[in-house]
Amino acid sequence: MTRLTLWNPDVRPAYTIYDWDGNLLESGFLGAEEVCCDLCNEEIFLRPVPVVSGYALCNQCLTKVVPDWFRQIYRRPDGADVLEAWYKQLEYQLRKASD
Ligand SMILES: [Zn+2]
Repeated sequence: MTRLTLWNPDVRPAYTIYDWDGNLLESGFLGAEEVCCDLCNEEIFLRPVPVVSGYALCNQCLTKVVPDWFRQIYRRPDGADVLEAWYKQLEYQLRKASD
């Protein structure tokens, strides 16, 4: 069974550039809302973000990689809350796409 974990992203470093002496020249950050699927590069809007082996997955890749994802989430103590949140987020995205 492929183990699924959940991630609530926060602002995090995206990159840092140092000169040859080790002085920081530039750094960039990603916002909490900026998460892309590590398989297909689509934006991930689900929160918490589904993660498998350290890779963030969109809802479509999640279904392909972890076919039993629903059962895994449902078994968690907070499973019903996560499923309800994902359902609302999917519904919102579908409504937004049809406008
Ligand atoms: Zn994907």
